[in-house]
Amino acid sequence: MDDPRRRVPRTDVVLADPRLAEAAGRLGRAAVKAAVTAAQQRARAGELAPEAVADAAVAALPATAGGLRPVLNATGVVLHTNLGRAALSEAARDAIQAAAGHTDVELDLVTGRRARRGRTALRALRDAVPEAGDVHVVNNGAAALVLAATALAAGREIIVSRGEMVEIGDGFRLPELLESTGARLREVGTTNRTTAADYRAAIDPGVSGFILKVHPSNFVVRGFTGEATVEELAPLGLPVVADIGSGLLRPDPLLPAEPTAAASLRAGASLVTASGDKLLGGPQAGLVLGDAGLVERLRRHPLARALRVDKLTLAALQATLTGPETPTWRALRMDPDELRFRTEKARDRLAEAGVEVTLIESEAVVGGGGAPEVRLPSWSLALPRPYAEGLRTAPQPVVGRVERGRLLLDLRCVPPAADDQVIAAVLAAAARLPLRRRL
Ligand SMILES: *Cc1c(COP(=O)(O)O)cnc(C)c1O
Repeated sequence: MDDPRRRVPRTDVVLADPRLAEAAGRLGRAAVKAAVTAAQQRARAGELAPEAVADAAVAALPATAGGLRPVLNATGVVLHTNLGRAALSEAARDAIQAAAGHTDVELDLVTGRRARRGRTALRALRDAVPEAGDVHVVNNGAAALVLAATALAAGREIIVSRGEMVEIGDGFRLPELLESTGARLREVGTTNRTTAADYRAAIDPGVSGFILKVHPSNFVVRGFTGEATVEELAPLGLPVVADIGSGLLRPDPLLPAEPTAAASLRAGASLVTASGDKLLGGPQAGLVLGDAGLVERLRRHPLARALRVDKLTLAALQATLTGPETPTWRALRMDPDELRFRTEKARDRLAEAGVEVTLIESEAVVGGGGAPEVRLPSWSLALPRPYAEGLRTAPQPVVGRVERGRLLLDLRCVPPAADDQVIAAVLAAAARLPLRRRL
């Protein structure tokens, strides 16, 4: 009897394959060994010819040692939290690559002395919002709020409207986050209406830390509603911290309802907090902009060290602020006619290959818990739902969205140069689906 288990090549023999030896230098020996072990197991189970073990191991190697798989976002959700929110610009990717080794992040190369960490990125942020007296950058938007609450209101009260006690997503509730710092929340007003007088009545000198205005990014309240503006709150004598969330620095006609850092500061906010990886289109980061004295208090607080950003983030943030338009910006402004043209071309090529596909008008959204009212007219390929899994598990994963029982692929957030990869993934998925599930 010819037992295939006997003929499965030994690990050291497989690892001697030059392709795997090269990959071990690039990805690490553990990753390559795991791929070899998996291929050997398949051969032992009779799923693979023993001679094919090395080929199968090569095919299964990850593209990088990072573990995170690059994905094509065909969901039509520009800032998709599960897909890492903003896709970085080429400029930001290059900046990360360049900063990955040793850099002058805290060294002035001219004087040879220690320098403020990330000073050029901080300057770029200040230049982008001249209304800010000073700026600081932390790990994410939530960290910016925690730092503000800890440095300015620990053991004291944060005055906040009952209409702004929001949950951001994945169980992250702003009130709980703020209370975890040792600050107490002083809730004022009602869910639908809060006035400046409500805030004024709650102010207790010696107990009040600051007034917090939170932008309810991911929902809207309609009907009998009212809120106090930053302009009305600024004269009340307490610092006003405006959490705008989205990271829009300056007004954008496409997003008229989104608050901006510049406008909030002009209206009298003492501090603005925002995320770097939402509408700004940059890396995950928390931006703090505003009054120089308050920013300095945050920067000098011991907790600031625990929330400090990495050199890679600083590099990507600066490139985002000073570089060309971001993929987020481009996706939000994608011309519907161009999108239709690309989608039609893809539909035609798939239909020629016998795929059951239609072109439909659809709607894309901003996502990332922002601008819930904004609908972006879009076009999509509609495929039978069973394609969803095949596309997610393709060598180049493509993630679409399921709507009314169909899988929709919206090319808005797919770089145009990657349209061919989407088409190839659909064809590969079609080839793996049983005929009846392709319809
Ligand atoms: C997104 C958001 C946050 C949290 O920011 P992260 O960068 O996700 O930590 C806080 N507040 C508002 C209003 C937001 O929209």
